[in-house]
Amino acid sequence: QEAKRRHGGIAFAADIGAEPAPEQLSLIGDMRDAMARAEFTLFYQPKLDFRSGRIVAAEALLRWQHPTRGMIPPVRFIPFAEQTGFIREITPWVIETVVRQLAQWQAIGIEIVVSANLSALDLLDPKLSQRVRCLLVRHGVPAHRLCLEITESALMADPSMAMEHLAELSALGVKLSVDDYGVGQASLAYLKTLPVNELKLDRSFVTAVDATPKNAAIVQSTIMLGHALGLSVVAEGVETPAEMDWLLKHGCDIGQGYRIARPMPAQQLPGWIESYTAPATAV
Ligand code: C2E
Ligand code: MG
Ligand code: MG
Ligand code: MG
Repeated sequence: QEAKRRHGGIAFAADIGAEPAPEQLSLIGDMRDAMARAEFTLFYQPKLDFRSGRIVAAEALLRWQHPTRGMIPPVRFIPFAEQTGFIREITPWVIETVVRQLAQWQAIGIEIVVSANLSALDLLDPKLSQRVRCLLVRHGVPAHRLCLEITESALMADPSMAMEHLAELSALGVKLSVDDYGVGQASLAYLKTLPVNELKLDRSFVTAVDATPKNAAIVQSTIMLGHALGLSVVAEGVETPAEMDWLLKHGCDIGQGYRIARPMPAQQLPGWIESYTAPATAV
């Protein structure tokens, strides 16, 4: 009852488990106002093409600049946004902001692909592809500049609905990426039928890939699998020169991680790209 009062009557799903702690409840309450007060912002993390040494893409990552708690990372509020359904307001804002940003960057000659992250609930929205199409048309952005990242668990919440909506997005020309690949429950039988363009290896396999035989085996076989299926393979969470060197030598296509750059505000990205020189291992 307290929960309902504090976050304005948005009902919780029955099966979310433990009751949120008081601090979490006030966060949920604040979330409703955050949108109106423009406290959400997107940071962008570059993606490096190993072979060319060029930045070919960036991922939009949500940040909440809370008036009293400072910058709150998405892992601290996205789960509540998903449980309360508030994600249905967040995701359209994220996608629109990304498309506007793409148009601005396009106008100054920065031609990169930008990805946004989707949640399970977003894949249930029958209007998703129609709204994406309208945004792209309105802002004059080619569909292939937009990529949507979806985790295996988000796909598996309703696999046939996800398939239907991803097929529509793919038909528009929007790129699709399987995020955190390898730690979810999606089968290869399911994945082979999905119209995706990219496998994004989970950070847990990339960490110390150069020094951990089991990680090396998983990453190497995923690179082979991805290439055999015509997919681009991305490594997330690349932190060290040794990891980067290993990934390059083993044919990984794209890397993303602190070794290359941390997520940054939109206005910093053009200057950063201009002055970026890939480390010697990646050219
Ligand atoms: P993700 O999509 O897998 O994003 C990668 C996360 O790893 C990001 O954390 C990024 O900052 C972090 N990261 C990147 N490189 C490195 C590295 O070298 N080392 C380490 N330790 N971490 C690295 P972030 O921004 O905190 O986001 C966490 C998760 O929150 C994301 O995981 C994604 O699942 C979710 N998320 C972020 N933004 C959105 C959004 O707009 N919508 C939705 N639905 N989910 C979002
Ligand atoms: Mg992602
Ligand atoms: Mg990921
Ligand atoms: Mg991840």
